[in-house]
Amino acid sequence: MDDIAIKTNRLCKGYRLYNAHLDRVKETFHPFRKKYHRIHHALQDVSLEIRRGEFVGIIGRNGSGKSTLLQIISGVLQSTSGSVEVNGTTSALLELGAGFNPEFSGRENVYLNASILGISRSDVDNQFSDIESFADIGTFIDQPVKTYSSGMFVRLAFAVAVSVRPQILIVDEALAVGDIFFQQKCIRYMEEEMKECTKVLVTHDMHAVMNLCNKVYVLDQGKLGFEGSPIESVEYYTKAMQNELFKTNSATGDPDQSKPFKGEASEHHGDGWSYVDKEDRAGASEIQIVKARLISGLKKEPIMTALNGDLLRLEMIVESTAALDSVLFGYILKDRVGNGICGDNTLSMVTPTYNFKSGRYIVSLIFKWPDIAPDNYLMTLGVGQGDHPLHHVIQCWAHNIINIKGLNDKEAVHGIFTNPIIECEVATIE
Ligand code: ADP
Repeated sequence: MDDIAIKTNRLCKGYRLYNAHLDRVKETFHPFRKKYHRIHHALQDVSLEIRRGEFVGIIGRNGSGKSTLLQIISGVLQSTSGSVEVNGTTSALLELGAGFNPEFSGRENVYLNASILGISRSDVDNQFSDIESFADIGTFIDQPVKTYSSGMFVRLAFAVAVSVRPQILIVDEALAVGDIFFQQKCIRYMEEEMKECTKVLVTHDMHAVMNLCNKVYVLDQGKLGFEGSPIESVEYYTKAMQNELFKTNSATGDPDQSKPFKGEASEHHGDGWSYVDKEDRAGASEIQIVKARLISGLKKEPIMTALNGDLLRLEMIVESTAALDSVLFGYILKDRVGNGICGDNTLSMVTPTYNFKSGRYIVSLIFKWPDIAPDNYLMTLGVGQGDHPLHHVIQCWAHNIINIKGLNDKEAVHGIFTNPIIECEVATIE
């Protein structure tokens, strides 16, 4: 038990919801204790175990219970049932500005916060210059905090939270409102100066999750949906989000006739296929792309996320209405604003083209996920005819048909992609 920092056991939090304001009063005074409320479960049976020194991420869509969980762990909120055990001094950055008195200056709030945490005035005196320089908000430190921008708030709040050298640090999305330089400063600080500290971070930033955390919990409608490594959890979360989008956008019916949401895999069939809409096709159309999906080269499962260097298999079902010679295939990867980032076609290969009779075929292109910046990307697929790299007949373009989230857990990507330096030479100048 010694190495457990936080443990929750079947934690539940229910809120009473009333349809009208008056219902609450009616319920209080009802002679036969008639109930006017229904219970909304913000958290249901959440059991988790966080070890000392772990950097844990909590992700999930809005309203899934992340803040409620952090508030219960921090002791700000009581659970309805279940238990929570926290072993260690805790500092929490929850709602922005929480714990600050808006009328007091930044300086006065630092002392106020410290006194709430039971830290003596002389200890704060000793630490104040560190806090001030970390927050780096200049003369605003002596202005009332009600005049602060959200960025200044978070600067001061983070500086105060870490100054007490907590054994457990809890951060609820607060860093996201800071500017990028401050975010990076906080991340560096957490990684370098707070190695021993247990850190729990709620965020929507999947890149941060991938880079910082060693374990990630996914909350789904108040329940623990998944627990695992960052990559597994981000994959689970991405799939869950896509499914949600799919449910609200697609028609139901026979798999081949149904029209899933554009660019979304038809996960309800569990097979990951994205179907090509008529309006997303262009070209001579003697051979057409019907559907496509990405499969992980290792696990052989449909995927929606890829890590730099991952081996991927792009499968497309094509339908040829005539006998066709010299058919080639290719893809283009586009970023969220439609810039083509990279791509290739089979003309660059030993067997550049294929001959087809009429019928259905499955075509697989195997490639590595490139060293590109982590972000959402769309794949456009193409079928052509001919053997000239620049002049061939376009048979079918399937625009933006696959939606994939690129991840990166290692080196930074510089710009859109990394172009490796081959050699570095340094020489003295006389
Ligand atoms: P998240 O942080 O993941 O966005 P929250 O923990 O803020 O989710 O909220 C979880 C659920 O609890 C949501 O459905 C939210 O509407 C509900 N909720 C949160 N606070 C209250 C409250 N004070 N009264 C009623 N419902 C609440």
